[in-house]
Amino acid sequence: MAKRYFIHTFGCQMNESDSQRMGEALARAGWGPTETAESADLVLVNTCAIREKAEDKLYSALGRYRLLKASRGTRIGVAGCVAQQEKEKLLQRAPYVDFVLGPDQLARVPDLAEQGGVETGWVDSEEYVFPQADPQSSRGRATAFVTAMKGCDNVCSFCVVPYTRGREVSRPYAEIIREIAALVNVGVREVTLIGQNVNSYSGGCSFADLIRRVDEVPGLQRIRFTTSHPMDLSPELVRCFFEVKRLMPHFHLPVQHGADTVLTRMRRKYTIAQYEARIAQLPPGVALTSDIICGFPGETDDEHAQNLAFLRRTHYDSLFSFIYSPRPHTGALLKLGSGTEWAEIPRELALQRLEEVQALQRARTLQRHAALTGTEVEVLVENAQGPKRFGRTRENVAAHFEGDAQVGDVVRVSVEKTGLMALDGTQTGILNQAPFTEVRPRRHLAVVSA
Ligand code: SF4
Repeated sequence: MAKRYFIHTFGCQMNESDSQRMGEALARAGWGPTETAESADLVLVNTCAIREKAEDKLYSALGRYRLLKASRGTRIGVAGCVAQQEKEKLLQRAPYVDFVLGPDQLARVPDLAEQGGVETGWVDSEEYVFPQADPQSSRGRATAFVTAMKGCDNVCSFCVVPYTRGREVSRPYAEIIREIAALVNVGVREVTLIGQNVNSYSGGCSFADLIRRVDEVPGLQRIRFTTSHPMDLSPELVRCFFEVKRLMPHFHLPVQHGADTVLTRMRRKYTIAQYEARIAQLPPGVALTSDIICGFPGETDDEHAQNLAFLRRTHYDSLFSFIYSPRPHTGALLKLGSGTEWAEIPRELALQRLEEVQALQRARTLQRHAALTGTEVEVLVENAQGPKRFGRTRENVAAHFEGDAQVGDVVRVSVEKTGLMALDGTQTGILNQAPFTEVRPRRHLAVVSA
């Protein structure tokens, strides 16, 4: 019987995509997936280093998997950003881990699973060969992530990414288009182009040109992308939101803070006035989302008040907000505590500020969703179980509804109830049927055999 693997993924879309590539590499070497860690011969933890809490979660998960190793000899591997950051040190802290694998070494996972060891070499040049998605592993799914670039050349003072993912490298556009065409061929209807700083893409054309090329792939219904830096938002990219019909009206454009003085300490390279001028260019109806950090070193009451004032006048559809987490190697950590400007904010105060930010956004998101009650929204079906369906609106809002549509269909949903996280409703019509009806029996078989 084939040996079985289980991948536990923390963090962002990049990690989700990397986990899929590692699963494909293991499958090529004869491994099969399993649903639980308890039934696996190999447990691979794909880690996130963006906040200390994510790192803590890794060590508590490893504590649980260690028991499986003791009881049934399960091999344990650690991949992703913490693997890259800690390298051999991870084996000192968790000596029961068999191997450590950095994000540029995904293809090595079958060898390391057998032999153990540490592989965290970086390839931050055009020599880097992006792992190619196996379209078959996306058969039966409506959506897929497609890597456009990796790494980041910015040095935001709070962010560990440049130290865990290296310099920016863009994937040649022809390779991206080929991958998307192959995904569409097995039934995928929406792609999200991903990269740490995706709008600084330069793989033979600009990012705006890449979107226009993706738009030409026949059969594709929806295009999304994430994540973007405000300084790389070009007028051409703004024009795409007006002109490229299959580019969905949702833009995640992290601002991080609403006070210029904090943005300077964060090394974000823009002012709030510049950010506001840029978002003002977007067409009406584009849902805007963002990230906010509360309790950044030295954040004064006045800076926090500026942050709240900015959020009150900027109508984000939703917001990811966190308290500042000191990360190894970063500029902010090096300066933390060195004078008033970099004073550490007591945790209680940071939490209180975070709660104020979240309360403000909660009210706004609830209000935005409530305004959709009684209207009809367009949803791409991602999941179908009995009469229950799940999908996302064009603006990327989650929607649960009852209906008979298949995965991959684009439907109209009448919104009956709304909450903070999702809309609830009933399917009222099918706008665009998934053309790959022959896919369905195969998907069914795949589910049965899994
Ligand atoms: S642009 Fe984003 S990924 Fe790059 S350093 Fe800044 S926060 Fe990190």
